[in-house]
Amino acid sequence: MKSLVFQGTRRVEYGEWQDPQPSEGEVLIQVAACGICGTDMHVYHGMPATWPVPGVRGHEFSGTVLAWGDNVTGFEKGDRVVIQPLIYCRRCPSCQAGYTNLCSNVQLVGGERAGGFAERAVVPADRVFKIPDMLGLEIAALTESLATSVHAFQANVTGLVRRVAVLGAGPQGLFAVQLARLAGAQMIMASDVIPARLELARTLGATDTFDARRPDLAQAILALTNGEGADLIIEAAGKAVTRALAVQFARPGGTIVFLALGAEPTALDFMSIVPRELKLHGTQCYTDADFVRSIELLATGRIDGAAMQSVFPLSEGAAVFERLGSNPGDAAKVLLAPNGAR
Ligand SMILES: [Zn+2]
Ligand SMILES: [Zn+2]
Repeated sequence: MKSLVFQGTRRVEYGEWQDPQPSEGEVLIQVAACGICGTDMHVYHGMPATWPVPGVRGHEFSGTVLAWGDNVTGFEKGDRVVIQPLIYCRRCPSCQAGYTNLCSNVQLVGGERAGGFAERAVVPADRVFKIPDMLGLEIAALTESLATSVHAFQANVTGLVRRVAVLGAGPQGLFAVQLARLAGAQMIMASDVIPARLELARTLGATDTFDARRPDLAQAILALTNGEGADLIIEAAGKAVTRALAVQFARPGGTIVFLALGAEPTALDFMSIVPRELKLHGTQCYTDADFVRSIELLATGRIDGAAMQSVFPLSEGAAVFERLGSNPGDAAKVLLAPNGAR
């Protein structure tokens, strides 16, 4: 079958890969669309990973059921599905406590195992989630990405929120803007360096947007909130500068959720954090419940996925990676369609 094969740092090639066969407990999926994740880009640029080289990446995908191995029940040929790519061990202390998103032995479909940048993929049956008829397959491929933002809200936001700031308007930031709207926020501020992303943020519910390079960004947000600051800040850029900034304009007692990964060492002003009781939270992936919630949010249109995505044929994948790696441009979420866009 055709697939996009990772050959090493900055080297992906569209070519032949062995046809996957479902073993016991596994389902064979015809891939409809597969999103390119920030993690895929980090690994493309050389971030160390325990993933095989050569190998097939892609963990954000939807498709239809083609076949299955022994001891699989509940599927019919042609079922429309989306893949939850985290394979939990179900035995470590985190799994046993119900925090499967923190599993210490997790394996990723599209990481340790071959993924969705291919015509077909094989996935454990319990990682295959059926989707409602009203949810298109390309939109469904956004479920995994959305689930990360959904988890950040489910774990850190209670009740109605008033003033939310989202730093970084990439896919996670744009989902966070929309979730803030659903959480009742009356003021949703977003920052980024790409004007097209800020425009999209406004379309999706941001009330105020800022060029992230503004030297007086913290003061501008404080001024907009009558000097009080933001109740909730979603740091979706993963940069030292945005992390430090968040601490400056959180309201006393406010919450900062660090949604983006990023290895930059970061100095934070603890004279702003400790006496003002700021709550600083990390967030990691999602549980199956967050994933199911994301399917519902996309299917009902409460989260607009269509406005955020661009779809390219998988055969152009190498050029797409190259372009995203050098100049991401205006695209928010890029998907690759192995069997033709639909
Ligand atoms: Zn991802
Ligand atoms: Zn585990």
